[in-house]
Amino acid sequence: MIDSFIDRLACHGVVVLEITHLGSGSSGNSVVYKSDEAVFLIDCGFSTKQMEKRLSLVGINPSDVNDILITHHHADHSKSALKSAMKWGARLHSNLETAMRMGWQPITEVRTFADLDRVEINHEISVIPIPVPHNDAENVAFIISMNGQRAAYVTDLGEATDELKKHLKGCSHISIESNYDQQKLMDGPYPDSLKRRISGRGGHLSNLQTASILQEVVTPLTKSIVLCHLSEKNNAPHLAESETLMKIHDIFQGDLSISGSLGPDFTHVLGVAPSKKIRREV
Ligand SMILES: [Zn+2]
Ligand SMILES: [Zn+2]
Repeated sequence: MIDSFIDRLACHGVVVLEITHLGSGSSGNSVVYKSDEAVFLIDCGFSTKQMEKRLSLVGINPSDVNDILITHHHADHSKSALKSAMKWGARLHSNLETAMRMGWQPITEVRTFADLDRVEINHEISVIPIPVPHNDAENVAFIISMNGQRAAYVTDLGEATDELKKHLKGCSHISIESNYDQQKLMDGPYPDSLKRRISGRGGHLSNLQTASILQEVVTPLTKSIVLCHLSEKNNAPHLAESETLMKIHDIFQGDLSISGSLGPDFTHVLGVAPSKKIRREV
């Protein structure tokens, strides 16, 4: 007997969204999200040529990218966004401040969103921008929703707001920056003014801050976490990973990965096969 829920799934057809970090760090950031019906990017911080190379490594034709959403105007997130969008025929989205800082023309070149405005990718996937504090930038985190499941993309922020934490709770997948190790930053080569800026409210998250946020928001629904935007000078993958695991090991049984700068290494999946989902619901 087929109930309306199954009908709805059958009607939707697509129930998984593949999430692949194409690379992450101060030299560039981009994540591709792919379902049967839509391909979209969050951030486009590499050259168009490099973006195309990295997309091809995961079997995606750049002209299949429908939408590109940009978190903020810093080059490691926005570098080739307009050029790539125009070349591939994709829609470009950012908030007005980012568009103005980039010199993008609203309507003709970029669709602007306001904080908490839902951006509809298609009939089953939408993205909500959440404002986050970051120096000299109107930065946003993104919450991607598909068929009742959610994934988060959170990078470049000095601290998490209550609003952001509220949205992170219940996410199945969380991509979040874990930028620096406090001790390494303090002992490292940067001038004091830069150290203060990185560790201040408008800077980046330390490993400890990221781990503490995750401790607050991870639930049994959280299946995968990607730590990203690690500083090459002030961090190391094992430090970021161990700090996070220390805080969440007793509440998180999922997959913890680290996105590096060199290219796509892994794919996570949001959503489940219809049969599994139906079984759980019945
Ligand atoms: Zn950045
Ligand atoms: Zn930034």
